[in-house]
Amino acid sequence: MCGISAIASHKPVASLLLKSLQNLEYRGYDSCGMAIFDDKEIMLRKNIGNVNEVNSIERFEEMQGQLGIAHTRWATHGGVTPENSHPHFSSDQKFVIVHNGIFSNFQAVKAGLEAKGHQFRSQTDSEVCANLIQDEYSICQDVETAFCNALMKLDGSYAVAMLTSYQPNTIFAVKKDSPLVLGVNDGVNFVSSDMNAFISETRDAVLINDLEYVLVNNDNFQVKKLLDRETITKQIIHVQWDKETAQKGGFSHYMLKEIFDQPQTARQTLHIPAEEIDTIARKFVDKPQSFCVGVGTTYYVAMIGTYLFSKFADLYVPSISADEFPTLVPVNANQHVLFFSQSGETYDTRMAIRAATTAGAATSGVVNVVGSSISQEVDDCIFQGSGPEICVVSTKAALSQILILWQIALRVGVLRKRLTEEQAEAHRQQLFEFSRLIEKVINEESGFIRDLAKNTSHVRNWLFMGRGIYYPIAMESALKMKEVTYLHAEGLPAGFLKHGTLAMVDENMYSLFFLPNRQDTDLFHTTLMAIEEVKARRGKVIAFCTQDDEEVQNMLDHYFVIPDTDPELTPLVEMVMAQLFSYYSALNLGLNIDKPRNLAKSVTVG
Ligand code: GLU
Repeated sequence: MCGISAIASHKPVASLLLKSLQNLEYRGYDSCGMAIFDDKEIMLRKNIGNVNEVNSIERFEEMQGQLGIAHTRWATHGGVTPENSHPHFSSDQKFVIVHNGIFSNFQAVKAGLEAKGHQFRSQTDSEVCANLIQDEYSICQDVETAFCNALMKLDGSYAVAMLTSYQPNTIFAVKKDSPLVLGVNDGVNFVSSDMNAFISETRDAVLINDLEYVLVNNDNFQVKKLLDRETITKQIIHVQWDKETAQKGGFSHYMLKEIFDQPQTARQTLHIPAEEIDTIARKFVDKPQSFCVGVGTTYYVAMIGTYLFSKFADLYVPSISADEFPTLVPVNANQHVLFFSQSGETYDTRMAIRAATTAGAATSGVVNVVGSSISQEVDDCIFQGSGPEICVVSTKAALSQILILWQIALRVGVLRKRLTEEQAEAHRQQLFEFSRLIEKVINEESGFIRDLAKNTSHVRNWLFMGRGIYYPIAMESALKMKEVTYLHAEGLPAGFLKHGTLAMVDENMYSLFFLPNRQDTDLFHTTLMAIEEVKARRGKVIAFCTQDDEEVQNMLDHYFVIPDTDPELTPLVEMVMAQLFSYYSALNLGLNIDKPRNLAKSVTVG
């Protein structure tokens, strides 16, 4: 997740490219760079730092030429170094690319190219793309064919833009599971990760779909299908947004944008190379005891992990809040601890890592920021590549972590022979289905959720309840509600209710139940019992339920209908719906949603 920008113009393009990079910087900025064709050859400048820092060293504006590509990086593979910054040249320097996303098969492709004599200058997954295009060109001697053939051989998520000195008036760009949009104007055309890159220049845009590629020069563009190279006629849309709205992708808040980013970030996690998942999974098998550790939302992510390891791998992996870990766990060298942190700088988690490493335990992490302290302090780390989350409360980063955990738990299930490879793959394929499903849910259900938030805007106290895996989902959803609305929202296991909290229930108490899919018979009925307990005390009940649960719906004061889905995916769908519910509840209260009071994005103090 980062920003790519490419511009073809009648005039020198460097300062426009620089401006577009500055406009994209909010998407990620550990490093940046630019490549421009200067009439004879491709010039390339790149370095680490934010756009202005890099520009003060590299002086992008001095670059000559009317066709260029540029990138702000949010590293996923390879450290934050000048060599790993984009753009990346092919070995012969005839092709240069920028890439947003993850090539999941890059290791195999790289090994094949190295065997043919290609040299690599970086540790990134992205560089294989440039060399693969060169390799294909050496066979077909046609740029467009080489570009298409190379991309067809790469798996994963990508938006790629390419320049080549063989066809110096054309930008080639393509996308799959990463954003890409075309901006058109008189004598200048843009290709970018989002409209924000060019909104100050043009509001005329063309949307590009997955597996479509574009050929762009300074007064024309052509969109084609990658699979058969058939030309597609596209409509130009006119965008009305102001710059600030554009930064939020047209949404009123970053929180809403980031909720809507989730189908894409979910898909991205499915392209994390299998080797990285396997390395961490093996530790759960090799060590007699493992733990999952996070704090705040990542603690609930860890708790969800506990349920996933039980389900898929028949293994009990306790989850512990990082702030309690040093006092609670007598760590030793026979243990393995998997840590979660969005920023990679969370103080409490770092202290827990210190306790684990001092005792000689094996450590691993799932982190969003390459080069962050935690990523360096653990033995092995998966970078989730969700891109920066600007809203203080976590939505897409947390969901990505859960999906990575899901894949680790499946792999542990295979290694422990509780699942066959085929069964694990079938479960993993469901996650692709999940990303389509939440795309549908957030697009189609948001209106209902907004209405319900309006109808409950007078409520000051909430109980959020679920059983089984729905329990940590309820806890995380209650935390989200507290963070953005400042209302009291208490998460608890539904079975716990009658053991105390039920005393609080009367006609003024509102409960939100995370009801399982009916096919999860036991969980469904035991959750229903808790609903009955609340109803019997005249408490108000809102629940997530499926379309055909008519008798349940009759018991409820309000309900959200979950689209018919696999029971395994239902808890995650409900989590996403609860994020929207918190968002719209906070919107009704007129609060500072992206920056709730008293909270900071990255808690680096104890
Ligand atoms: N995977 C690529 C890298 O680590 C691209 C990351 C991005 O999207 O910025 O360089």
